[in-house]
Amino acid sequence: MKWPFAIDCKDAFLHLFFPHLCAGCSSDILDEQALICTACMRSLPFTEFEKMENNPVEKLFWGRTKIQHASSIFYFITDSPLQEIIHHIKYKNNPALGVYMGNIMGLRLKNMLSINKIDFMLPMPLHPKKEYARGYNQASVLCQGIQGTTDTPYLNNILLRNFNTDTQTKKSRIERWENVAEVFEISAPSAVQEKHILLIDDVITTGASTEACANLLIKNKAASVSICSLAYTI
Ligand SMILES: [Zn+2]
Repeated sequence: MKWPFAIDCKDAFLHLFFPHLCAGCSSDILDEQALICTACMRSLPFTEFEKMENNPVEKLFWGRTKIQHASSIFYFITDSPLQEIIHHIKYKNNPALGVYMGNIMGLRLKNMLSINKIDFMLPMPLHPKKEYARGYNQASVLCQGIQGTTDTPYLNNILLRNFNTDTQTKKSRIERWENVAEVFEISAPSAVQEKHILLIDDVITTGASTEACANLLIKNKAASVSICSLAYTI
C-alpha cells in the first residue's frame, strides 16, 4: 500500500474519535471543510425581507427611528438548527461560523437596491468586558462575512457600548438599564457625517438597542441608516 492510503487510515481513525460535527444538528459530517450539513443548510428559514419594502422589521422601527431600509435574513425559530448555529457563534467560540453566516447575509443583501450606496457597515457593539470574555464581537464577524461577498467595508470601534458614565451613576440601577440610549457612544462623530451606514446585528427582538444606535447616528448627521440582522424573532 502507498502512503496516501496510510494517511487516509489515520484521518479515518482521527475522525472516529474526533468527529466533525454540524453546528446546526450535531450530526457527523464527513466533509471537513463544511461547517453546516446539507440538511441544515436546506432547513434555514429565509425571510426574503431584503427584497420587500415595508417588511415586518421595517415596521418594527416605524415611529421610533428614521431608517432607509431594514431587514433580517432568517426567521429566528426556537429549537431549530438556526438557533443552534447562533448559539455556536455567540457562546461556543466559533467566529468562523459567524463569518460563514455573514457570507450568506452578503449574498442576500446584494438584492437590496441600496447596498451599493452604503459607505460602510457598523457592527452593533458589545460591552467591552463581554467582548473580551467572548474573544470577539459576533456582529463584527458577521460584518467580516458580508464584506467577503459584497465588498462593503466595515468599521470597528466607531460605535461603542459605554461603561457607566457620570450621568448614569446619578440614576438608579433600573433607570440605567432602561435608558438604553445612553449606553451607546460614537468615538469619532466626523466619521459618520454624511455617510450611508448599515448597522449589523445578530438577532433583532425588540429592536431597542438597534433603535438607540440608529438614532445616535442620525443625531450625529449620518446621511442615512439601514439595519440588517442575521435573524428576526417572530
Ligand atoms: Zn446539520
